[in-house]
Amino acid sequence: MSSSIVVPVIDVHSNNFKELWPAMVVAIKTSSFIALDTELSGLGNRKSLLAESIEDRYKAIWHAARSRSILSLGIACYKKLDQKPPDSYLVQVYNLTLLCSEEYIIEPQSVQFLVQHGFDFNKQYGCGIPYCKGNNKGGSDDRGVHIRTLFTELLRARKALVLHNGLIDMAFLYQSFYAHLPERLTTFTADLSEMFPAGIYDTKYVTEFELRLTASYLEYAYKKCKLENSRSVTSGSAGPHVHLEFCQYAGDLSTYIDYRECPAVTSTEGQTDVCQRFSAFGWCPNGTKCPLSHDTDLIILQDEKCKNDKRKRRKRLRDKKGASDTGKDCSVSDGAPTNKMANMEEDKEEAAGDQKEADEKSCTDGNSHMDDGRDMKNDDEEENGVGEDKTNPGDSAVSVGEGTGIRSTESNAEARKKADAGTHRAGFDAYMTGYIFAYACALIKKEAEPGPEGADAQSEESWLPVCINKIYLSGKAAPLNVVKSTFAKSSKAHVQKMEMVWGQKM
Ligand SMILES: [Zn+2]
Repeated sequence: MSSSIVVPVIDVHSNNFKELWPAMVVAIKTSSFIALDTELSGLGNRKSLLAESIEDRYKAIWHAARSRSILSLGIACYKKLDQKPPDSYLVQVYNLTLLCSEEYIIEPQSVQFLVQHGFDFNKQYGCGIPYCKGNNKGGSDDRGVHIRTLFTELLRARKALVLHNGLIDMAFLYQSFYAHLPERLTTFTADLSEMFPAGIYDTKYVTEFELRLTASYLEYAYKKCKLENSRSVTSGSAGPHVHLEFCQYAGDLSTYIDYRECPAVTSTEGQTDVCQRFSAFGWCPNGTKCPLSHDTDLIILQDEKCKNDKRKRRKRLRDKKGASDTGKDCSVSDGAPTNKMANMEEDKEEAAGDQKEADEKSCTDGNSHMDDGRDMKNDDEEENGVGEDKTNPGDSAVSVGEGTGIRSTESNAEARKKADAGTHRAGFDAYMTGYIFAYACALIKKEAEPGPEGADAQSEESWLPVCINKIYLSGKAAPLNVVKSTFAKSSKAHVQKMEMVWGQKM
C-alpha cells in the first residue's frame, strides 16, 4: 500500500564544503521552499523554556542561544517540478556538521542523547565547519565560503522557510549565523518578518491546527502524512498526491551521500505493547532501554484503530443528541484516542512529586533540543475542556508506571533501529519537515479549491495562507505571530545586516 522511500542525504563538512558550495547555493536559489532543522549543544533550563509568559520563554531561549551552539544543520530544498503532475518536487537534502569557534556550553545530557542517536563527535571536532556567532566580525559575511555566507544566500533567495516546532531553531539560527539576538521578542519577530518575506511556516502548528493529527511529533506526522498520501495515490482518490524525486548523484559527489531508507508503514509482528508516553509525545524517559514499543508505524496503526472505534462512539453520541457535525472532518482529522488522554492525566498527577527526576531527564529523550515530544496533544479540547492550561509533560518526565507488562530487553534489531534513526538527523528531519509541508499544501489546496490550475498559480504566492508566520508554542492554543507590530522596531544589528544582504535600507 505504502511505498518505501530512500532519501539521499548529502554529508557536508569542512573537507567538502567548498566543493559542494556551488551546488548548495543553486539548490537554495532554485527551490520553491526550504525546510531547516538544527542539532544543538544544549538548551539550558527546560522549565523556563516552557514558562507561562511567552516573553519569559524568549528570555530563556535568548540565554540558551547565546551560550550554546548549533552542532549540525539540516537543509532540505524542495523544488516544485512544473512539467510534472501537481505536487511533484525535486528534493535535495544536506546535513552540515558544524563547529562553533567560540566557547560554548555543551550539556552532558545532550551529549549522551546525541551519542545514543549516532552523532559523531570525533567527526564534529575533526571536520566540523567552523563559524563565529553573533554580530559580524569584520563585515565579510556576504563573501567567501562560510556558513554565515550561506545563511546570507538563504535570505537573498527569499524562499518560504519551513521548520517543525521552530521557535528555538529560529533563535539559534539568528544568533549563530546572523547577529546577536535582540533583547525583546517583539524585536525578534519584527526582524524575522523582514528576513523571510516569503513567510515562515511551522509544521508542528500545521499538524496540530490544520491537519489535526492525533500526535504532532515529527516522525509521527511525517509517517502519517506519507501513509495517507500513498493511500490516496493507490486508491486514485482526489486526495493529495505528493510525489518526490531525488537527484542521481554521480562521481565524487556520490561518496558524500548517505542513503536513509524510510520504509513503508507496516504492521509489526509480535510487538503490540506500545509505550503510551512515546505514543503521545514522541519521547520517553526510558529511551532505548524502554521495554515497550516505540515503533511509530505500530503507533500510527493503533491510533487509526482507536480513532475508528471512537468515531463510532461519537456517531452514536451525535445521533443520540441530534447534534450536527462540526463540519471539519477530513480524512486525517479527529481527536486523540482515549489512551492518550489517560496518559495526560497521569502526567498531571505525577508532575509535582518527581520534579527532580524531571529536571535531570527531560532534556535527553525525544530530542536534543526540546522538540516535538515535549507538548501535549490537545485535539480533544473541544470535548474535554483541556485546552491550553495543561501542564506540559516536558517538565515532568517521570516514569510512566506502566511496568505491569514486563518484557525482556528489546531485540537487537529494534535497538539498532532506534540508534540508526539519529544519523544525519538534522538533514533527515529537515527532509521530513518539508514532506509534511508539501503534503499539507496539497491537502489544503485541494480542500479549498477544486480547480487545480488556478490553485497552482496561486500557491507560489503563499503556500499555506492559513499558517503563514505562525510559530508553534508548546502548550498554547495560539501561535507566535511573526509580524512587525506597530510598536516594535527592528534591531540595529538587523538593519545593518539588511543593508549588507540586500544592499539597501529597509
Ligand atoms: Zn517508552
